[in-house]
Order: sequence, then C-alpha cells, then structure tokens
Amino acid sequence: MTGSLGTGLEEALARYWGYTTFRPLQRDAIDAVLTNCDSLVVLPTGGGKSLCFQAPASIGSGLAVVVSPLISLMKDQVDTLVGNGVAAALYNSSLTAEEKREIVAGLRAGQYRLLYVSPERLVGEGSDAFLSLLAACGVAFVAVDEAHCISQWGHDFRPEYRQLARLRDVLPGISIHAYTATATARVRDDISSQLGLRNPRVLVGAFDRPNLVYRVLPRSMLKGQLLEVLSRHRNEAGIIYCTSRREVDALAVWLNSQGTRAVAYHAGLDEADRRANQDAFLSERVDVVVATVAFGMGIDRSNVRFVVHVGAPRSIEHYQQESGRAGRDGLEAECLLIYSSADFMKWRVMLETNGELTDAAQTLLRQMEQYAASVGCRHQQLSEYFGDRYSKADCGACDYCLGELETALDATTLARQILSCVARVGQRFGAVHVASVLRGHASEQIAARGHDKLSTFGLLPDASVAELRGYIQQLTALGLLRVTDDAYGVIGLTAKGMVLLKDESSCPGLSLARQRLPRKDLPRTRSRAETESWQDVDRGLFERLRAVRLEMARQRGVPPYVIFHDATLREMARLRPDSLDALRSVKGIGARKADDLGETFLAAIRAHAS
Ligand code: ADP
Ligand code: ZN
Repeated sequence: MTGSLGTGLEEALARYWGYTTFRPLQRDAIDAVLTNCDSLVVLPTGGGKSLCFQAPASIGSGLAVVVSPLISLMKDQVDTLVGNGVAAALYNSSLTAEEKREIVAGLRAGQYRLLYVSPERLVGEGSDAFLSLLAACGVAFVAVDEAHCISQWGHDFRPEYRQLARLRDVLPGISIHAYTATATARVRDDISSQLGLRNPRVLVGAFDRPNLVYRVLPRSMLKGQLLEVLSRHRNEAGIIYCTSRREVDALAVWLNSQGTRAVAYHAGLDEADRRANQDAFLSERVDVVVATVAFGMGIDRSNVRFVVHVGAPRSIEHYQQESGRAGRDGLEAECLLIYSSADFMKWRVMLETNGELTDAAQTLLRQMEQYAASVGCRHQQLSEYFGDRYSKADCGACDYCLGELETALDATTLARQILSCVARVGQRFGAVHVASVLRGHASEQIAARGHDKLSTFGLLPDASVAELRGYIQQLTALGLLRVTDDAYGVIGLTAKGMVLLKDESSCPGLSLARQRLPRKDLPRTRSRAETESWQDVDRGLFERLRAVRLEMARQRGVPPYVIFHDATLREMARLRPDSLDALRSVKGIGARKADDLGETFLAAIRAHAS
C-alpha cells in the first residue's frame, strides 16, 4: 500500500480533489477515522460529509466499506472517485453476475480503497458469505452514510439499517462512523445506540446555510408567483415540490407550455418513467423537476439553484431536508415556500386519517406554521429551531433581511385593532369573518349577527382578506391570538393578547409584515452569496464551459457534476487559466482531472478569449 498516514492527507486532498483547505469539522471527522475512534458526524446537506470518509480512505492502508441507501447515489460517488483517481467500486443488486465476480476478485487482490454497498448486501439473504469475504480482505473502517435511515424519528426510515449493528460482530476492532444531515437529538441518540457506537466522537456542524436565500409567500395567483421565481433562474436547475400528484402533473405540463423544460416525478408514475425523468434532470436534459416528496433522496445534482415548495411540508425538519437540496455546491441558491393556511388543515386531516396525529406531530406542524407566518430573519429562525445560536443581525439572504417584506407602519395599533375585533365578535369566529368585519363588508351573516354595528366594523377598509389573514397568522405565531385546531379555526385571544389590548406598551418591538403579492416592478435584490460567487466571473465563459462539460458528460455517460462542479467552472471563468499549471491551481481540479480534462477546458477558455 502506498501513502503514509496523516501527513499524506493534505497532499491527497490536493491531488485527488483539488482542494487546499478543509471545511469546518472535516479535519476532526477525518482524525476520528484515522485514529480508529467511532464517530457520529452531523453536517448539513452540502457540508461535505463524503470527504470525511473518502479522504482517509484514499490514504489509508485498508478498505473502507461505505454503506449507502441508494444505488443511484452510490454510482455517482464511485464515478466521481474514479474520475479523481481514487480506486473505488460498488457492490449491489444492479450488478450482473460477471461484474460481481470482477469486483470480488478486485477485493481479494486489495485493489480498492473504497467499496460502496447497499445495506441489503450486508444483512440480507446470502450476506454471510459476503461478510466473511470482507472480513478476509482487510477492512480499515465502516462508514454509514445517511445514518438517520436507522431511526424511526428520522424522515426516511429504512428497516434494513436496523441490522447493521451486526457489522460489529463480523468486523471486531474496526471503527464505525455514521454520517447524517438530520440534526435532532433524538435521531442522533438513536443512531448511536442502534449502531452500537462505542464512545463515539460526536461532531455537530453549524446548521445555517449562508448561501441559501429563504423566502416565504402566501399563496395567491400561484402561476404568477412561479413565473417570478423562474425569471430569476433561466436555464438553471430547480425542484418544485407539490403536495399532490395532480398538481405535479398539471404544473409540469404548464411549465413546458411556458417554455421551461420540466418533468414530473411522483410515486404514481411507473418505475421506468420515474427513472427516465430523474435521469433527464441529473444529466441536465431538463432544468426543472416538479415532484412530490418522493423525489429527492439520492439527488446528488449539486447545482440546484432553486427549490420551491408549493404547499407547506409537515415539519421544519422536512422543510430543511427538502429545501437543503438547493445549492449543495456552496453557490447561491433560493428556497421559496409558497403556503396557505389550508395546507396545515390538510395535513391535520391526513395525519388524523392515518392515526398519526400525535402531540408530537401537532407540535411539528405548528412550528412549521409559525415559520411560515412569522416575520423576522429566516436564517435565525431555522438556526434556532435546530438549537444553534445565530448572531448575525442581518443575514443578507432572506426576504426579511433583504427588505422584501413590507412591514406594517404602526404594528402595535394594527395588532390592537385586530385583537379588539376578535374580542368584539365574542371569540367565536374564524379568520374570514373577522377579516370581513374589519374591512366593513356587510354580508348577510355579519348583518344577522349585528356585527356591522360594532365599533371595529370597517376599521381597515383598504386591507385585503389575504392581507388580514396574514396578520392573524402572524399574531397567532407571536402568541397573541390562538386558533382552534378544528375545521372552524375559531380565533380567540391569549392571555398575552388580552394584556396588549389593555396596555399598548406591553409588546415593545412588535412587527408585522404585509404579505406581498408578486409584482413585476419590485427591485431585484441580490444576496451576499450571489454577489460574491459571481464576483469577477466572466458569465459568457461560464456558460461556454457549462456547454463543454455537458458535452464531456454525454460522451462519458455520467452526470455533468461528476465532471466538474459549478463552483469549479465559475472559478475557471474567474481566473481564466492559460496553462495546465495555472489550471491545477483552480479549486476543485486535482492532478488526475487536470491531465484528463485540462486541455479540453483550456481550449474552450482560449477560444472564448479570441
Ligand atoms: P454532503 O454529503 O454533506 O451533502 P458533499 O460531500 O456532497 O456534501 O459535499 C458537498 C460539496 O462540497 C461537494 O461539491 C464537494 O465537492 C464540496 N466540498 C467538500 N469538501 C470540500 C472542501 N474541503 N473544499 C471545497 N469543497 C468541498
Ligand atoms: Zn435574514
């Protein structure tokens, strides 16, 4: 075996990956592997978990066994490793008997640094023979990727993962390392106990993703709202999540009619169509996937520039996981939630029907609702939800901090007007009724109850129903109003709301946002990440390099991001290297990649210059 421990790490990083520095916690995570100490590594999506086990494997003196839940993901990772010059293979049900024989021979000959396997291979039928083969070929350590699959508290439970603890018996004395992006303490504890980790080093990264811009819009004229997002992302990749298959199909058809190349993805399509559509997205033949949440795990396309949720997910964990598929390459990306209060009602009904409406589920749903309706920095809200402190006063990357939300001029007075109206209708009506009274809309029902005689009738004649609903949601999120969880959604005052009615100084700093509707004339604000990642980049050259990459990817039958990430192409379009040596200093280009693809890309850069 070649390569010395530890000292070879920096060299390997530069040679195989073309990186010069580690991301936060990568170094510690790699140390755990190199010192044979079990570990549990929690890093957000895009945080660079793969490198934590790939780098030590590339310099170590044994075989790294990587357990990974999805065949497509495995293939991408192995293709990328091989492209970088690291010997790796996969072993799963997608292989022919001949391919399997070849790999087994390779294993016996000690040819590979990493072997990716599906959990079924390790615990299912016929796994004994395979395990003894592994035991005989010098396994250095085991890496369990997407380790939250072991927990019922996670968002993607896979029963096979439960039996991975067996690995301990078959491979005694070998360290086990678990990797996940799911942050809650319960999932973390579950992983540790189910895998039988011994004194694991627990490394939990910061959850904030500064390159993501978070926006929230109340749903209204959905198509207009979508067109607005798409106009910011022409020819860029995006995922649009919907809550129903019907909406997925309808939107996919409509997007194509609008000139956006889009495909649908949901569990109602047959396997072949699903695969073909996923493939079209991964290989950049289409830009947009409209999908239910069935789509996503195993999506390694790193240059997804926007994720839109049409309809709120059922928890912030789900939202974090799904929206987190944007911007994995660290470049700017946008996450937009388009929601309506009906989404939450639908979830309650659905969970109730399935007997899953537990107190925990209710709480998760309410927290999601609060996120959607509240006003404030989104990065701060998300970080705090996951137990991180957030100290930046202005994130420069959310609708609130970018000044896109209009705040109500005198929030305290406005809040008191609404609270007072709720009190005067006897805390016995829902949002629509309260809004109608405030707007001075003398409907039959309002007249019949004498609510047109109230002092609050017509107090806010210029506000729309949607706007007033938005305020009511925000006041609920702020704990000033409460809404019953039944179908009526009856609004009442909380104790804190009562106090504000009596004493206008009881809620200092109260702020309410006017929920904005899509408007063409809104100023286009750029996030900090967007400004920085485009700094000095020749956009024309970047597009040209993208085209070259696509061409290479098609020739080789791999997805484009396996050739180079967008971040690397932008760096090239910034530095415009004119020799192989200069090219090697571009972040993301290792020696092997430079030899293999350097001339092709240099030619494109030269052609662009002339
Ligand atoms: P995760 O599995 O945590 O979601 P990945 O391992 O896919 O994240 O890494 C996300 C992106 O970050 C990839 O494009 C990867 O090449 C890049 N990356 C990882 N580590 C580094 C590093 N030390 N320097 C620069 N880029 C890195
Ligand atoms: Zn912010």
